Amino acid sequence: MKPGTIFLVSILILLYFNSARSQDTSDMKRKLEPLRNNFALAIHGGAGNIIHRNLTPEQQQQYKDKMSEALRAGYAILDTGGKSIDAVEASIRIMEDSPLFNAGKGSVFTYEGKNEMDAAIMDGKTLKAGAVAGVRTIKNPISAAKKVMQKSKFVLISGKGAEQFAKEQGLEIVDTSYFFTEERWKQLIQVRDSAKTDSLKNDSTGSIINKREDHYGTVGCVALDRHGNLAAGTSTGGIVNKKYNRIGDSPLIGAGTYANNKTCAVSCTGHGEDFIRIVAAKTISDLMEYKGMSVSQAAAEVIKNKLSEIKGDGGTIVIDKNGIITMPFNTTGMFRGYIDRKGKVTVKIF
Ligand code: ASP
Repeated sequence: MKPGTIFLVSILILLYFNSARSQDTSDMKRKLEPLRNNFALAIHGGAGNIIHRNLTPEQQQQYKDKMSEALRAGYAILDTGGKSIDAVEASIRIMEDSPLFNAGKGSVFTYEGKNEMDAAIMDGKTLKAGAVAGVRTIKNPISAAKKVMQKSKFVLISGKGAEQFAKEQGLEIVDTSYFFTEERWKQLIQVRDSAKTDSLKNDSTGSIINKREDHYGTVGCVALDRHGNLAAGTSTGGIVNKKYNRIGDSPLIGAGTYANNKTCAVSCTGHGEDFIRIVAAKTISDLMEYKGMSVSQAAAEVIKNKLSEIKGDGGTIVIDKNGIITMPFNTTGMFRGYIDRKGKVTVKIF
């Protein structure tokens, strides 16, 4: 080999190894990248006309304790560098397993005396989402929503098909009797009777949903993880005394649930039809993206103005990409709470 060729070959070999080494170091750097500090998580347990005299101090404490447990479950995942989507699922599962909330175990009854649940989850990094609607035998609908997002090519599936999918994915399936609670049954009887009287008085066709019904108890969670990714999830039994396989806003991406790393993660609660009409969750994100509003301005605009303008009621929890949390509602109360990066828990009802 000529000396010139030897020189050229050695330069090429050197260049190759150098580039491989810098590839290695950049991979390593990414792995070693310090986890961010501004992570946080917020939850809600439904908004509605919750009044002090309807909840004893002991009941209030029970709600607060359960919400604190849910917050800590999500925090444990975030604190150790886990993903926001997993934290959202973990927090919501705790509330779904409790009879206190209108989701999973504590779901309200339909007019026909059944429990039909809806849930959705969304990943702000990829804009991937999954949702289930009208499911009756999936113990944790939020986990089914996550499986839809991760393991199917669909976003929203419903009824028996969704139950079949959940079973195929190895999720826990229970008998419909698992969701029976005395409290919710009494609530149905009460609401069904008063709806009959109301419809006789005001509406000869009979309304599908009486707006005065208590519907609080839906659960939701929004989180920002230590990698800077947002996620949102919502799970509900819907509205007591609902008919005709009615589906609310919770499983509808953009209405009751939305997440986008560019802006925020949102979970709504309240009278679902109104949240669908104003596409509440996506509107909050849009106001931030296209109008440059802060997270608090955008959420207040949607709940205090847009929702109130159409006489809708409810609230929302929103977290932005910097971990700033806002929780506006236009009802008398909203079960809600958040946990900061130091693990400090705050829970409120009124
Ligand atoms: N938004 C839920 C629904 O309409 C109910 C609620 O959040 O209270 O199904």
